[in-house]
Amino acid sequence: MSTDPAQVKEKYRQLVSEINQDVDRIRQEYGKYPCPTDCFQCCNNTSTIPISEVEARDLQIGLNALPRQIRLHIYNKALKTIKVLESKGFTSDSMVKDSGLEAIDIIKGQSYGQCPMLIGGVCSVYEHRPVICRVWGYPIDNGNELACCRKTFIGQRRNFNPVKYSLYWQKCKTLSEDLGVFKKTPACYTVLKLIDTK
Ligand code: SF4
Ligand code: SF4
Repeated sequence: MSTDPAQVKEKYRQLVSEINQDVDRIRQEYGKYPCPTDCFQCCNNTSTIPISEVEARDLQIGLNALPRQIRLHIYNKALKTIKVLESKGFTSDSMVKDSGLEAIDIIKGQSYGQCPMLIGGVCSVYEHRPVICRVWGYPIDNGNELACCRKTFIGQRRNFNPVKYSLYWQKCKTLSEDLGVFKKTPACYTVLKLIDTK
């Protein structure tokens, strides 16, 4: 049975606040932002990252707030990615099954590999970005391993209590299931579904 979407939305906002506090904690201990201000390398090769339903619903708020011209631009970027991937035999389901591992070889370094929501080197949905985008750049607990961007916290990753990413992702999964949705969707397909082109 699905939970009231308004309740799930509120719980997701609480989760985002918890994540922000966890990230702030490390930033304060570190004493500065870990990323160079002009870097957006991690938004490349992310057009197929899996997005949960609860993240998608928040993303929709950000996308709806954009001017139509930008929405159309994002839509067309996502469509281009999908066309390329489908011409190679990929589907939304096949990518989610292996977390996009095979598809990454196709999109890596290509224009259609870039997150459709990156516009001119800036995240167009920053306040509503998915959870991984909120934590990447900091040392994160990714289940059985400590993960971190190769460009940040070099030689210092183990000096910090990692951001509890694995727990946050689990919470997203549970909240999505509360909405009656059990499957994740690659970012390009998520965007295509969410964007109002009118
Ligand atoms: S949603 Fe924003 S932060 Fe995340 S990959 Fe896309 S552009 Fe980058
Ligand atoms: S996480 Fe890494 S790739 Fe992404 S903005 Fe920071 S330094 Fe750049």
